[in-house]
Amino acid sequence: MNPVSKRDYYEILSVGREAGDQEIKGAYRELAKRYHPDRNPDDPAAEEKFKEASEAYSVLSDAQKRAAYDRFGHAGVQGAGGAANPEAFADFSDILGDFFGFGDLFGNSGGRKRTRAQRGEDVRYDLELSFEDAMFGMSAEIQVPRMERCERCKGAGSEPGSGPSSCPTCHGRGEILYQQNFLSIRRTCSTCNGSGQIIRNPCSECHGHGYRQVQRKLKVNIPAGVDDGNRLRLAGEGQPGANGGPSGDLYVFLKVREHPFFERHENDLHCTIPLNVAQASLGCEIEVPTLGQPHKLKIPEGTQNGAQFKLRHQGVAILNSGARGDLYVHVGVKMPTRLTREQRKLLEQLRDTLPVDNQPSEKGLFDKVKNYFM
Ligand SMILES: [Zn+2]
Ligand SMILES: [Zn+2]
Repeated sequence: MNPVSKRDYYEILSVGREAGDQEIKGAYRELAKRYHPDRNPDDPAAEEKFKEASEAYSVLSDAQKRAAYDRFGHAGVQGAGGAANPEAFADFSDILGDFFGFGDLFGNSGGRKRTRAQRGEDVRYDLELSFEDAMFGMSAEIQVPRMERCERCKGAGSEPGSGPSSCPTCHGRGEILYQQNFLSIRRTCSTCNGSGQIIRNPCSECHGHGYRQVQRKLKVNIPAGVDDGNRLRLAGEGQPGANGGPSGDLYVFLKVREHPFFERHENDLHCTIPLNVAQASLGCEIEVPTLGQPHKLKIPEGTQNGAQFKLRHQGVAILNSGARGDLYVHVGVKMPTRLTREQRKLLEQLRDTLPVDNQPSEKGLFDKVKNYFM
């Protein structure tokens, strides 16, 4: 570092020249927290600030060095930051360990590999169902692409008979200790990804990955009554974990196709049955389709457009209960549009006998009909 551009240590920590040990420690702690490389990955400016603060602290926290610095400036402590100072590391980890949970960040634990057990990723699978399958439930066979341990090498990645060898970059430690000035930071070794081992003779089946992509066949039991957007969780059927970690889960997202005439609202079904004007006026018996056998439904005389009838327990199975919702049959009275001469005559006769009442309907009544059509 160019001595001319070197900032004053007190200025770096924003403390006065008479600041006590606690104040210096507190000031450094604040800066270290803010600029720590683990919190600012790939940010050289933050790293520079972190180093600068650490250097200032290493001098000002040491009574002897501080006295020399106070008298002679940077020249008085030249080289203080040049070599690793194990005592200083111990101090720092003491201060920072609480904040980062990395007691070994500054190299005082030694040789521990960063091969934490990792849970495998969750996997999503989209399954489209017919309306009926969702209503009645089904057992579906699905094929899910996922990684599985290679049978040939049992997940080790090496050809059977040849084991992995120690990583030459990190000498099997799985991490590399960077030492810059007096600062030392552990980083996971990128050659071996922290495992400490590399594969010299890769397995011919998986090319050293230890895992292979397979199409895994699974049976999924879809319970009766599932709805569009529901998801089923198959525990442990996701991607395998690493370093002995558990597998992730498989989530089956359900898409339920629409039915040509049944509409689902919660656990009830709705459908609309058209009636001609004579059926509605005189009453009749019709057949209503249900999810099972068609049901006979008696339409009483004088049924109005928009009237609804309920068929109990003909709706959707209520999940895990054995009960079912209801089926609502809505009546839509259709007016004849193209009349034969005879039909016209009959209607004219009817008109002449019917009372005429063209007073506006009560508002509420109209709203009811309007809502029905929306
Ligand atoms: Zn293999
Ligand atoms: Zn390595």
